[in-house]
Amino acid sequence: MMATRTTDEMKGGTMQKDISELKFADITSVYSGKAHHCCCGCAGKHYRPNVDIGKPIPGLEFQGTKYDKDDCSDRMIRKVLGILQASPSKVEDGGNCYAITIGKRIYIAYTDD
Ligand SMILES: [Zn+2]
Repeated sequence: MMATRTTDEMKGGTMQKDISELKFADITSVYSGKAHHCCCGCAGKHYRPNVDIGKPIPGLEFQGTKYDKDDCSDRMIRKVLGILQASPSKVEDGGNCYAITIGKRIYIAYTDD
């Protein structure tokens, strides 16, 4: 009988790391916004690492739109990672992201696009 594969492997990704093992370099973007609202960015803001400044925004290449300084913040990524790791029991594993609600705000760290 063939070995069974986990659903994570079947999605083509790797297993989600435990939040305590998550590192800055694992995070592709973070989100900070109002809890219980839409998370597209209309009730908060997404941030990417500073290395992404000047890179084309996926899906918007045809417009030539690139990430600028306002879209990127290493500081915010470190902040969200710190918030998540400070309260691991409250972290929700979203498959390709980790989310936590603190009071009226939600913080999310995405680990892939
Ligand atoms: Zn929205």
